[in-house]
Amino acid sequence: MRKLIAGNWKMNGLASSLAEIEALKGLTGKAACDIVVCPPFTLIENAAKRSKDSTVIVGAQDCHPEASGARTGDISAGMLVDAGARFVILGHSERRASHNETDAIVASKAVAAHKAGLTTIICIGETRDERDDGKAIDVVGGQLRGSMPASAASSNMAIAYEPVWAIGTGLVPTIEEIEEVHSSIRQMLEERLGDDGRLVRILYGGSVKASNAAAIFRAANVDGALVGGASLKAAEFAEIISAAA
Ligand code: 13P
Repeated sequence: MRKLIAGNWKMNGLASSLAEIEALKGLTGKAACDIVVCPPFTLIENAAKRSKDSTVIVGAQDCHPEASGARTGDISAGMLVDAGARFVILGHSERRASHNETDAIVASKAVAAHKAGLTTIICIGETRDERDDGKAIDVVGGQLRGSMPASAASSNMAIAYEPVWAIGTGLVPTIEEIEEVHSSIRQMLEERLGDDGRLVRILYGGSVKASNAAAIFRAANVDGALVGGASLKAAEFAEIISAAA
């Protein structure tokens, strides 16, 4: 399967950061995987203009479930498309935690994103306590089933498994732990989508770096990565991309 490597800039990046996109274009000219950069809303339009005619695709980090209306401060999926985005990350654990996003909210956002023509990267993952209690697979399964909308298919959705305790901490599950969760996600995707479930890309996210990317990409059912901190600088992100190619 062609891998998908997505960078989540989170709340980082000013106009000057667009230089990283320019640099990434130069470093990843003929990448054999799909490359997505998700800057903050404010940079999407300019990032999309700069990455035109390159292999770099621009995505967003969230959208509202509704198409328009009295929603001060919110951004709709249609607005993202209008600005040049083609992907959107939904249900990131930081949004689940600090914006109280439930699985149902994530699913409604995914419906809106699919209607607008965006490809969704739906994030799921357990906390440290949930893993220590032996509940990682159950938690991830519940989030997956609840967050995937009826419109989901391999053509418009990837799943990102991001253990909350691995995000920004430098801690990474063992390859066996990653494979265990990814294979259970694969099984659930096949139960829900039949044969098409085999084609959904399952990304790993949480402290992916140039130094650990190759080993993670060799793991079974790992079809790419969702990268936070290490996606901010083109040079390191390009190394991760080349580990996938
Ligand atoms: P880090 O790569 O900084 O751990 O962040 C992972 C993440 O949350 C990507 O969405």
